[in-house]
Amino acid sequence: MATEDTGKEAAIPFEGKRRKVSSHPSQNEALIFEKSSPGKRAYRLPPLDVPEADPSALLGTSARQDPGMLPELSEIEIVRHFTRLSTWNYSIDLGMYPLGSCTMKYNPRVNEFVSRLEGIAEAHPYQPESLSQGALGILHLLERCLLEITGMDAITLQPAAGAHGEFTGILLARAYHQAQGDPRHRILIPDSAHGTNPATAALCGYEVENLRSNSLGMVDLAELEHLVTGDTAALMLTNPSTIGVFESEIHKIADILHAKGALLYMDGANMNALVGKTRPGDFGVDVMHLNLHKTFSTPHGGGGPGSGPVAAKKILEPFLPTPVVVEGPRGEDGRATLRLDYDRPRTIGRVRAFYGNFGMFVRALAYILANGPDGLRQTTEDAVLNANYLRSKLEDLYELPYKTPTLHEVVFSDRRQAQKGVRTGDIAKRLIDYGFHPYTTSFPIIVPGALMIEPTESESREELDLFIDAMRQIAREAQENPELVLTAPHSTRVSRLDEVAAARKPMLRYMPPDGAVGQ
Ligand SMILES: *Cc1c(COP(=O)(O)O)cnc(C)c1O
Repeated sequence: MATEDTGKEAAIPFEGKRRKVSSHPSQNEALIFEKSSPGKRAYRLPPLDVPEADPSALLGTSARQDPGMLPELSEIEIVRHFTRLSTWNYSIDLGMYPLGSCTMKYNPRVNEFVSRLEGIAEAHPYQPESLSQGALGILHLLERCLLEITGMDAITLQPAAGAHGEFTGILLARAYHQAQGDPRHRILIPDSAHGTNPATAALCGYEVENLRSNSLGMVDLAELEHLVTGDTAALMLTNPSTIGVFESEIHKIADILHAKGALLYMDGANMNALVGKTRPGDFGVDVMHLNLHKTFSTPHGGGGPGSGPVAAKKILEPFLPTPVVVEGPRGEDGRATLRLDYDRPRTIGRVRAFYGNFGMFVRALAYILANGPDGLRQTTEDAVLNANYLRSKLEDLYELPYKTPTLHEVVFSDRRQAQKGVRTGDIAKRLIDYGFHPYTTSFPIIVPGALMIEPTESESREELDLFIDAMRQIAREAQENPELVLTAPHSTRVSRLDEVAAARKPMLRYMPPDGAVGQ
């Protein structure tokens, strides 16, 4: 065996233990363009047996003159290229994904099985209603489940994500105030809020007013009372808040708003801590969104399809986006036929093509039905238990800025590690070396240097213990050898990337080094 090739690793004697990490067969996979060589093909076509067409005869001057620079590879090279790249991905199928606020829970395989059933996967959105009773039944049943879970009166499944749900919900509030002849101009948002909340309010034409949190990280009732006026359209509140704390005075918050004619909007992205335990409709919320891709386990991340249904109280129902699924007359079997109602004169209009991201509805409904009411309650309890387990195992090493009881996520700060120059982003990068996806860094902004950790109920005690070991080891490193943490990750192909430039100046096309190919 050539020991010089395997280097450092070969020097570690094999002690009969299995090693956790093995390296990728090719850590230096080139770009597909760089692997190209002229004339290679991944297909073979039969000889042309018709006259060859002249593209310019068909397309005139629009016909492209040069063939463009497309990579030329064999089939196995293409397969290997993408398979190798896929092994560099981190995913929930590989390990824990503790991104706080994001609820990166496992998407059970049964969801995928159901969503791929032929009648579901291949239904066309323009099929007539008479041939779509099954699909409409899925929409209708999911709506009823979500209304039961939230305690609200009416719902739309259309919005494609959480932020889109916020936009839809605030448009409902705006339509409501306008219909009362009382258009209002301001929306209150706590300083702990997710960035999409102020963005939504601004996009809907409102002035955003900042509501300071109190020392427990909750809404300051006196401050709220002071700020709510006849010009306040709504308060946008995340409950539990982004520090994982339940607003225990939520009833009073709702009363203060309602007394001035303002509405309570709840950002329901954190419903994972509430499902089966308490219902926003029962504690005074007027309108809220859900993230099916968080709480209800549908796949999440990489910009894939999400789903952000909006549930509302009766007073907002006339304004819901069209179409709305409604029950028609009952047939002989006692079942109502379902139809799509487009005739809603006060609607805010459509917010999404067709009926929303249907595949997400199927998965979410499968998840809800597979768990049942007791199972859903159990997931909530387990999510809260897991977050508290992490809290209790890490709070001696990491600063806990708010001691209020934790629900489904726990927020530490890097105050102690910062004394050695190690910040939350460094600790997060070092976690990669231990085989975990980083937690959420630097959010919420009311906690300077935040480490926001949400394990979700998907994780076993064993996986949580591995995570705890890694976090404890990193805390030790930050004291004894801060440089090791500051220069992490060490196990990846590339280390510290320029994240700002990647977001602001993304390079989305291949530029050959010699600039040989035209634009
Ligand atoms: C995730 C999240 C959102 C936004 O949801 P998207 O689906 O990402 O648009 C809004 N608020 C909170 C608190 C969230 O965690």
